[in-house]
Amino acid sequence: MGRQRLQTIDIIEDKGLQDIIRFASDDPYHRPPTNTTVTRIRKCCERCPDGWARYGERCLKFHNTPKTWCKAETQCVHERGNLMSLHSAADVKIVRDIVAAATGMRTKVWLGGYDKVEEGCWHNSDGSPFDYEPWGKGEPNNLGGSEGCMQLHNEVGQPVNDAPCNVHSAFICAMDIEEMDA
Ligand code: BGC
Ligand code: CA
Repeated sequence: MGRQRLQTIDIIEDKGLQDIIRFASDDPYHRPPTNTTVTRIRKCCERCPDGWARYGERCLKFHNTPKTWCKAETQCVHERGNLMSLHSAADVKIVRDIVAAATGMRTKVWLGGYDKVEEGCWHNSDGSPFDYEPWGKGEPNNLGGSEGCMQLHNEVGQPVNDAPCNVHSAFICAMDIEEMDA
């Protein structure tokens, strides 16, 4: 059934991601067949690459160069991550701590949540469930009918806000460490 998939394996050794094994296939999302010599694939690495901080099963990297939400996501993808998705109060705290350490202040930061495709239909850019929504009071309010991207608020007691995706903001990328069995 279907076309024969390639069986070649390419070990990537750039950007400090030595542990990544890419399986060449006509379908980039296809996992290797179980009868190959590959028994494990690491999406990322045991240690986070230089410049990334380990946080649970993720590596985090704060960028203090303001970009639009889309350009921020593009930057994260270039670095093999996505804008960070939130799943717990601890996730909010770690972002606050990283940002405070880097900037000395409460800075607005793009996160992975967006409802730009359909108002009120929120997703995370990394594909993870949108299962934690610590909106500030009255948020998300889609102010002016043009707020489709999730941003960590800079005010105390206001965790996240929906903001216009085209404003330039600092941002935080996250990368999964997850290991997948072949
Ligand atoms: C932001 C809105 C937010 C509002 C809350 C404004 O500055 O642009 O996204 O809902 O503040 O008061
Ligand atoms: Ca808002």
